[in-house]
Amino acid sequence: MDYGLKGQAAIVTGSTSGIGHALAEALAHQGVDVVLNGLGDPGEIEKTRAALEAASGVRVRYHAADMTRPDEIADMVAFAEREFGRLDVLVNNAGVQFVSPIEDFPTARWDQIIAINLTSAFHATKAAIPIMKAQGRGRIVNIASAHGLVASPFKGAYVAAKHGVVGLTKTVALEIAQDGVTCNAICPGYVHTPLVDGQIKDQAKARGLTEEQVVKDVILAAQPTKKFVTFEQLAGLLLYLASDMGASVNGASLSVDGGWTAE
Ligand code: NAD
Repeated sequence: MDYGLKGQAAIVTGSTSGIGHALAEALAHQGVDVVLNGLGDPGEIEKTRAALEAASGVRVRYHAADMTRPDEIADMVAFAEREFGRLDVLVNNAGVQFVSPIEDFPTARWDQIIAINLTSAFHATKAAIPIMKAQGRGRIVNIASAHGLVASPFKGAYVAAKHGVVGLTKTVALEIAQDGVTCNAICPGYVHTPLVDGQIKDQAKARGLTEEQVVKDVILAAQPTKKFVTFEQLAGLLLYLASDMGASVNGASLSVDGGWTAE
């Protein structure tokens, strides 16, 4: 499908892995120049970047901004504008997880999760909005979570950060509503990525279960379809929101969770 995005430019934070990489790929295959971002081995990242550029035919750049560093986040946004001359789509996707009962939750982990999962979206959005306003068009898409809408035990920092992302999304949406810019949140249920693999191990430890039991009784128990959400399903919604068809969707928190938050 052609979403009419050819010639646009995007940043996807946390796109060296998982959902972010899949979303960056989907944008690139629609003809959108993309800045990749995220942690990882520099050689592997360069291979990923070059492969996506070759497969899609668009310009694919990489910026190593650490999402805990406001100055580096601002530099990443300026880099995108310098490289591509515009910025149409900002996907705030970078995120980490840590699972622990609140009384044992390490304070440093709390601070890290709030910084990466919530505050980085503030810094990137703050830097992107003047560019988008000047263009008269822009799309900010925050990858929140079902945990932006409901809670689960042992995920205090993650749930707090994702609820914060939903609140930030609504506030930004109201501020830029008349500027041709929209801001929405996608709230996925469980997607099988390295982040979820880590959770399976952590949950097994926290709950005293085997990893197989966690997948069946904890992870997919929450999802009425009993199926993981796929990258393609998330990419389809992102492309819709980025397109002209999505122009009136603003401030929304869109669940892609197989019915989890309907319960
Ligand atoms: P992932 O671990 O596969 O990818 C996370 C990405 O964030 C990686 O590219 C990593 O390098 C990057 N990152 C982490 N710390 C960073 C930092 N300090 N600076 C820059 N980049 C950093 O995880 P994922 O499952 O693809 O998750 C992506 C997003 O989707 C996260 O915000 C996550 O909360 C959200 N989400 C995931 C699921 C799921 O089931 N996987 C469900 C709902 C929401």
